[in-house]
Amino acid sequence: MVAVDREITKFQNFLQQQGLKLTGERTALVREIFSTHYHFEADELLFKMKEKNVKISRATVYRTLELLVKSGMVRRVHLGEDHYHYEHVSGNSHHDHLICTTCGGVIEFHDEVLEQRQREICERKKFTPTFHNLQILGVCDPCRRKGETPDAPDRVRMIHQTKLRK
Ligand SMILES: [Zn+2]
Ligand SMILES: [Zn+2]
Ligand SMILES: [Zn+2]
Ligand SMILES: [Zn+2]
Repeated sequence: MVAVDREITKFQNFLQQQGLKLTGERTALVREIFSTHYHFEADELLFKMKEKNVKISRATVYRTLELLVKSGMVRRVHLGEDHYHYEHVSGNSHHDHLICTTCGGVIEFHDEVLEQRQREICERKKFTPTFHNLQILGVCDPCRRKGETPDAPDRVRMIHQTKLRK
């Protein structure tokens, strides 16, 4: 079975537990989300579906994303903007993000020592963690070489609107 088909089956099982059906639109969405890895906005996904001539409503895109998040197959991330981006979760590959404030580029990283420290902090505070998304905003190497400076240290410059956040 191809990886994407496996994800479709997984989502179908989740939907069944919720008493819901896997429709053609939902299948097309899962196929789109799992065929590439990028950090997308709900409306960008809607736009991509329209480009591919898949008839799907905005409400269905949002509702299906909610369900995918609930199933743990997709997660919501903040990338230095005032709205959510989404990304698919493959396997147990938890990661965090370095975000370039001048080009909008995203660098993923995983550091087990850092993860362990966070677990220890939660234990010490008797806190049960359910989610974290560590993000460091800054300037990536290519932008730094070009002499780019951020408009603000804590948010991404609004120039990447037409570009998907890898
Ligand atoms: Zn965005
Ligand atoms: Zn982490
Ligand atoms: Zn950059
Ligand atoms: Zn990511």
